[in-house]
Amino acid sequence: MKASRQQVITALTNLLGEDRIVTDLDLLREHDSDDGAYAKAFGIYRVPLPMCIVNVLSKEEVSEVLKYCNNNGIAVIPRTGASAYEGLLSATTEDTIVLDASGMNKILKIDDINMMATCQCGVPLKTLEDLLNKKGFTTGHGPQSLPLAQMGGLVATRSIGQFSTYYGGIEDLICGLEAVLPDGEIIRIRNVPRRSAGPDLRHLIVGSEGGTAFITEVTVKIFRYYPESFWRGGYIVPSMKEGFETIRKIIAAGYRPSVVRLYDKADYDYNYGTVELKDSEAYMFFVAEGPPSIAKATGEAIEKFTQEANCRYIGTKHVDYWLIHKNDLCNKFRSQAIRDKFREDHLYYATTEISGSWTDIVDIYYSTIAAIKEKVDNLVFVGGHASHAYQNGINIYFVYTIEISDPNVAAEEHQRVVDIICEETLRKETGGCVHHHGMGKMRVKFAPQEHGSSYVLMKRLKKMMDPNNIMNPGVLVGKDN
Ligand SMILES: Cc1cc2nc3c(=O)[nH]c(=O)nc-3n(C[C@H](O)[C@H](O)[C@H](O)COP(=O)(O)OP(=O)(O)OC[C@H]3O[C@@H](n4cnc5c(N)ncnc54)[C@H](O)[C@@H]3O)c2cc1C
Repeated sequence: MKASRQQVITALTNLLGEDRIVTDLDLLREHDSDDGAYAKAFGIYRVPLPMCIVNVLSKEEVSEVLKYCNNNGIAVIPRTGASAYEGLLSATTEDTIVLDASGMNKILKIDDINMMATCQCGVPLKTLEDLLNKKGFTTGHGPQSLPLAQMGGLVATRSIGQFSTYYGGIEDLICGLEAVLPDGEIIRIRNVPRRSAGPDLRHLIVGSEGGTAFITEVTVKIFRYYPESFWRGGYIVPSMKEGFETIRKIIAAGYRPSVVRLYDKADYDYNYGTVELKDSEAYMFFVAEGPPSIAKATGEAIEKFTQEANCRYIGTKHVDYWLIHKNDLCNKFRSQAIRDKFREDHLYYATTEISGSWTDIVDIYYSTIAAIKEKVDNLVFVGGHASHAYQNGINIYFVYTIEISDPNVAAEEHQRVVDIICEETLRKETGGCVHHHGMGKMRVKFAPQEHGSSYVLMKRLKKMMDPNNIMNPGVLVGKDN
């Protein structure tokens, strides 16, 4: 027989002590990041409330709690910074606990010979980055959520930073990790520079959205930091299409600026609005970094390629503005002000990120914008920007605002736009419908299309790692478990 809510709370209290178990209704209602913030502003709570939030302070405690939950069929949502989107943290059943490790916040080692930093999973990225900067190093990882996100969540979402074109995503930065399996077994993937010993076991956990194991410790690469030699440049380009092509040429020629950003007018006006653009024009800017000679050479190449493409140089003022304000959105996150605003103007702003090869991305951009304009009656605006460039393609962040007439259907109205973006992207052979926020519970219905014939491996992986389906049920394979 299944344990009752009260029995579970009593058992967990016996394991860890009363002060670690949170049952406060307001906190339970806010267990799931900012998802559902619009409806919540109107007092509507649509996802099941977890039984409790359990605060853990060590891998042994994580192990004890997981063992208990695994034996009793209790779902567990791992949590660190609670900044995830896409319903990643939202409970799907009332038989759920949130396992919060933000108290596991010790930086364990900075190794400046082997260029690695080792942290417990609840170390805020900003704490690590600030410490490293003081010592002349950087993680190279600067997501917009830098002030919010913590190391475990960053690894579990396969996150990416705004300087990724030079440093890579977290998958390029992670060296090794420690994790607890659903049955309580503690495992460690050692930090070796590279190994050819079968499939890379780190990737059973990196990007797993809390669906395969609980990460307790991570080791990431660190880099020398040269902020004084940042090269910056901003340009007006005739169109998004020409912007994509100019970036492609720079990357294909072998240059790696750290920041590569291309905004259409709608997106730039909404988010920054400091550059005057005609409707069809786009704003593109770059930061190049690294040792001074490398930053300089990269900057010179950008100057050459942008001149050849008839881009209009507009200086560095707007790039500097972006560098200062790039994390400002975090101030609105979970804020009372944003919920007051929802009640006042009924407007909901959201973003959805996808990727595509250089040959598909232009079509994805134009066809998705057109489809949203055509199909979404309550659309206020839609735009997009690209911000992470690769040898073989680039991402797009679609940004949009919809007017919500009834908060009870806010989630469905948001989901409709997400669906259009995923459908348009997946029409293309190289379109990827999730660039970095994770599939969560919002986009997991596209997992079979995203993975194609290899989806069978995702289903088997979930079964193999988490046979009782206790780890964040609903992610990775949705209801296909
Ligand atoms: C304003 C804003 C800007 C953002 N910008 C970016 C961006 O630039 N790049 C980007 O990649 N993302 C961005 N995000 C999304 C989010 O910040 C990232 O997904 C981040 O990696 C989440 O980290 P977290 O510590 O907050 O994790 P949480 O929100 O706590 O959890 C995220 C996921 O990881 C799982 N998880 C958490 N901790 C663990 C653990 N210890 N073990 C196993 N699983 C775990 C959770 O179950 C959940 O599925 C942004 C979010 C906001 C609000």
